[in-house]
Amino acid sequence: CGIVGYIGTQAATEILLAGLEKLEYRGYDSAGIATVWEGETHCVRAKGKLHNLRSKLEQIEIPAQIGIGHTRWATHGKPEEYNAHPHMDTAKRIAVVQNGIVENYRELRENLKQKGHLFVSDTDTEVIPHLIAEFLKNSSSSSDFLDAVRQAVNHLEGAFAIAVISADYPDELIVVRQQAPLVIGFGQGEFFCASDTPAIVAHTRAVLPLENGEIARLTPLGVEIYNFAGDRLKKQPRLLNFTS
Ligand code: GLU
Repeated sequence: CGIVGYIGTQAATEILLAGLEKLEYRGYDSAGIATVWEGETHCVRAKGKLHNLRSKLEQIEIPAQIGIGHTRWATHGKPEEYNAHPHMDTAKRIAVVQNGIVENYRELRENLKQKGHLFVSDTDTEVIPHLIAEFLKNSSSSSDFLDAVRQAVNHLEGAFAIAVISADYPDELIVVRQQAPLVIGFGQGEFFCASDTPAIVAHTRAVLPLENGEIARLTPLGVEIYNFAGDRLKKQPRLLNFTS
């Protein structure tokens, strides 16, 4: 599939759609975006190719400067709108897009159901926002969001890349790479992420490909990289040359 994400000062929707257009070859079962504004997480999704999502979005005004987007190549669950990404937790605060497969999703879903989480799709992906919500419930510090995502991915088996936002953390976009590609783009007071560089080169040539087992927190102020144990890593973006 194709993943994109944006955090900064521009309107997020068009940036996400334009990015997804560059990645549409990676999947066209469905497409969707999630944005955070006025204290809520808003999800818009459509079955089929990206232009179906684009037509839906033309009817809506979205004043968001943070968001994530996805084009799906279905592995678990039919190519229907209810299985389209982004997926959310029960309270609809957290939104997740994923590339890849969560191999142990059945066991995780049973466990989460017993804790009261409500599932509305047939995807493996949906366990991720619920698992993050579960870890957030038990935390109390201000690095909560990053830490909850970190704890959640430590429980996932498989190959995946994810991007996560939450209405409760409107200035944070968290991305993870584990055996599926994810690259971060560095702008001026704005940052991007995508499955592949064509989705972000229109905005910046300063990129940092994440490595397996890395988590990044993107805020309007910068990017921090960590490993799955929570240790901070020192990394710098590199410049793509203009012919690439
Ligand atoms: N396994 C997920 C799904 O079927 C993600 C597939 C993808 O990479 O698009 O929804």
